[in-house]
Amino acid sequence: MTNNPTIDGVSLLPCPFCGRAPRYVPADYVDNHGQPWPFAECNPCNVGAPVEFWQKRTGFDYSAHAQETTIARLEGRITQLESEKEFAAATYQAARDRIAELESGRGEPVGYGTFKNGRYGSWLFRTEPSAKVHLKTANNGYPMKAEIHALYTAPPAPVAVVLPERKSDSGREWDSHYVAEVEGWNACLDATAALNGPAK
Ligand SMILES: [Zn+2]
Repeated sequence: MTNNPTIDGVSLLPCPFCGRAPRYVPADYVDNHGQPWPFAECNPCNVGAPVEFWQKRTGFDYSAHAQETTIARLEGRITQLESEKEFAAATYQAARDRIAELESGRGEPVGYGTFKNGRYGSWLFRTEPSAKVHLKTANNGYPMKAEIHALYTAPPAPVAVVLPERKSDSGREWDSHYVAEVEGWNACLDATAALNGPAK
């Protein structure tokens, strides 16, 4: 890509001697009226000319040059879009991974551990990069090959409260105090049983 100005829609033409892009020198020279006189210069060839002369070439295919300029610009754009596409794909994948992690109910990893020969290392690392850094010198100052696993706390096991027996007022229906006690007792059991969720 060039940041050269365009002169009548054509970017600065290449050096006629070596074919390199010239250097645009907008203000080092002045014309007879003291106004800045833009030059094009090729340092390796030690040549230069005012831009309006630099751009005049007998037999030069201006449209081909303009096409080449456009092609170079589009190729640069394609490269940029391809890297943006890669970035978007990586971002998308990271989001998918995160969703899968959340949907699995594991929540956030509590840390990262190294895993080798069926065993975890004894250290818990806060981040995956810090675990990688550790592995670089984990073998007596030399790199160690090990997997790095995200570690999660185990989800709490559901615990059902075991309830005492319900009471019955059978045979003591005449005892209003006892009937009230039984009703209250059983109502408490029902409310507690509801906290346990549906019976399995
Ligand atoms: Zn040159």
